[in-house]
Amino acid sequence: KSFDDAGLHPAMRDNVTLAGYNVPTPIQQYVLPAIFKGHDVVACAQTGSGKTAAFLIPILSKLMGKAKKLAAVRGNPALMREGERYRAEPLVLIVCPNRELATQIFDEARRFCYRTMLRPCVVYGGCPLREQIPLLEKGCDLLIATPGRLIDFMNRPALLTLKRLKYMVIDEADEMLHSDWESDLKQIMSGGDQEEGNITYLMFSATFPKIARDLAKEHLAHDHVRIR
Ligand code: AMP
Repeated sequence: KSFDDAGLHPAMRDNVTLAGYNVPTPIQQYVLPAIFKGHDVVACAQTGSGKTAAFLIPILSKLMGKAKKLAAVRGNPALMREGERYRAEPLVLIVCPNRELATQIFDEARRFCYRTMLRPCVVYGGCPLREQIPLLEKGCDLLIATPGRLIDFMNRPALLTLKRLKYMVIDEADEMLHSDWESDLKQIMSGGDQEEGNITYLMFSATFPKIARDLAKEHLAHDHVRIR
């Protein structure tokens, strides 16, 4: 197996090569085709398994075919006039438990978005909200966020809406569920377009306690793919 026969968009194929990835890791071999086929996925994955690229590569590759159109809808930050602002209407939301992981996912997303018109953005708690507002106001296609900070922004609909969301990734779900974020996570998972089938849900976790299985059962399609 190689990335050559994974059916990637040419820009993604180039960026995967630039990243120095030649062979998909085991988790990538299973997750990539499942996402390409449009399935919801629950995957048991540890840090170091290549799980981040396993969801970023197929999602971004699919969006790259539409990147120009997306940018036209979103607006081009390079053409923003003085005082002009956009509302962030991401197509992809990645929720993860902490700033370190959020930053790592953002760095990887930036590599994969290189030379495309897709814009990744990262927000997390522990620093002033007002410092992160300008990031959202430039517009973003892919938002990476920790739960508390995300809820802060979801409560400001002039800044952020999830109504265009196509993919929701819950990364390290178990970490969020055994801290105080259970209700935040539930609120977030209910915050997108609730019409069935409009959002592809992807859940990654090292362990699957009952509470994680319940959350998957409630929000993911009945025929979701399980990968371990
Ligand atoms: P993760 O499990 O997502 O934290 O990834 C662990 C590390 O593996 C990261 O530093 C990635 O850059 C790297 N990585 C992910 N996929 C591949 C691959 N197919 N080939 C080589 N390195 C990879």
